[in-house]
Amino acid sequence: MAIINENYLKLQAGYLFPEIGRRVSEFIEANPDKKVIKMGIGDVTQPLVPSVVKAFHEGVEEMAKAETFKGYGPEQGYAFLREAIAENSYKTRGIDISANDIFVSDGSKCDTGNIQEIFGNENKIAICDPVYPVYADTTVMAGKTGVCQTNGYYDGIIYMPCTKENGFIPELPTEIPDLIFLCYPNNPTGTVASKEELKKWVDFAIANKSIILYDAAYESFIQDDEIPHSIYEIEGAKKVAIEFRSFSKTAGFTGTRCAYTVIPEELVAYDAEGKAHPVKPLWNRRQSTKFNGVSYPVQKAAASIFTEEGKNEVKKVIAYYMENARIMRESLQDAGYEVFGGENAPYVWVKTKNNTKSWDFFDKVLNEANVVGTPGSGFGPSGEGYFRFSAFADRENVLEAMERIKNLS
Ligand SMILES: *Cc1c(COP(=O)(O)O)cnc(C)c1O
Repeated sequence: MAIINENYLKLQAGYLFPEIGRRVSEFIEANPDKKVIKMGIGDVTQPLVPSVVKAFHEGVEEMAKAETFKGYGPEQGYAFLREAIAENSYKTRGIDISANDIFVSDGSKCDTGNIQEIFGNENKIAICDPVYPVYADTTVMAGKTGVCQTNGYYDGIIYMPCTKENGFIPELPTEIPDLIFLCYPNNPTGTVASKEELKKWVDFAIANKSIILYDAAYESFIQDDEIPHSIYEIEGAKKVAIEFRSFSKTAGFTGTRCAYTVIPEELVAYDAEGKAHPVKPLWNRRQSTKFNGVSYPVQKAAASIFTEEGKNEVKKVIAYYMENARIMRESLQDAGYEVFGGENAPYVWVKTKNNTKSWDFFDKVLNEANVVGTPGSGFGPSGEGYFRFSAFADRENVLEAMERIKNLS
C-alpha cells in the first residue's frame, strides 16, 4: 500500500491567487465591456533587456556547434557566473563572498523551499506574518509543523506579526527559533530593514546558534543608499545567515529562471550532541544529488546583466517600475489612503479605510474601479485590513488605475 506524505494533507488550499482569478473571471464574464487592469500578481511585465537577449542567443548558438556544445554543467553553476556574482553583487558593496560559496539555481522559490531539507525536523521555524507563502508551506511539507489552526497559523511555527505598529519589522520572538525566515525588501509590504534592525537579528542568531534564511529577491529595487542590500553587510552574518537572490525581479527572469543561494564557508549548524558542522557541504551534496544545473544559455544570459551595458539596461527597467511605485504611492496618498512601501521595493502596501476587510476592499476596487490588487489577508492573518498593489505594470495602466481609484466612492 502506497502511503502519502501526510504533511501535504495539513496544507490549506492554495487559496489566494486561485480565488483572485475566480473573482476576476466572474467579473469579466458579467462585464465584458469593462477594461480590467491587473496589479495583483508579483510578476514582471517588461521584456528581457537587449544585453540579456543577445547573450541568450549567443548561448544557444554555442550549443548548436560541436566545438562549443555543452552538456551537463557544474551543479553549482558555471564559474563565469558565480565569479560575476561575487564581484558585482558583493565585492562592489564591500562584502567578501567567495564564488565558491555561491550556488546557482533555477529559482529562489525552489531554494527557499529546498533548504529545509538539510535542517532537521526538530528545528523551530520563525516566519513573518504577512509574508511570501512559500516559507510556511514548505515548512509544513517538510513535516516541521502540526495542523493549521482556525486563525490560519500552523502549530509549531513561530509567527512574527508585521504591522504598521512595529514598522513591519518583527520584534525578536520570546520563544527562541532555530531557523528564521526574513525577507527584505519585503513581499508583500514593500518595506525595508535598516542596518540597525538587521544587526539586531544577526546578534540574536549568533547568541542563540540560530540561522537566518534571508530572502533578498528584491534587493535591486533599493534606492536609499543607507539600506543594506545583503545580510552580509552586517558584521558576523556570515556565521549565521544564508542569502537567497534571484534574477527574476532584478532582470525579468521570472519566465527564464535563474537565481542563487549564498552559503558562506563559516556557517555552521549542530548535531544532536551539539557538535558544529559546516552547512555548505550539505547543500552542495543536496544540489549535486538532486539538481543538474541551470541551462548554459540562461546562465550566460544572467551573467550579461553584470556587463556595463547590461547593468545600465537593467537599471532603466528597475527605474521604470520604481517610477510606477512613486506614482502609485502619491496617488493613493492623495486619495486619502495610508500607504507603506513602494520606495525601495516594487510593492505598495495600503491600509484600507475604516478597517475594511481586505477581501471587501478587493471586491470594491474590482467592481467600482475595475482594478485587481491582492488582499493583504492572503499573505497572513496580520495582513487583514491591508491591500497590495504591484508596480510591475505598464505606465499607462498604472496611471489609469490610479485615476479610477481616486474616483472611488
Ligand atoms: C518573486 C519572489 C522570489 C523569486 O522567486 P524565483 O523562484 O526566483 O522566481 C523569491 N522570494 C520572494 C519573496 C518573491 O516574491
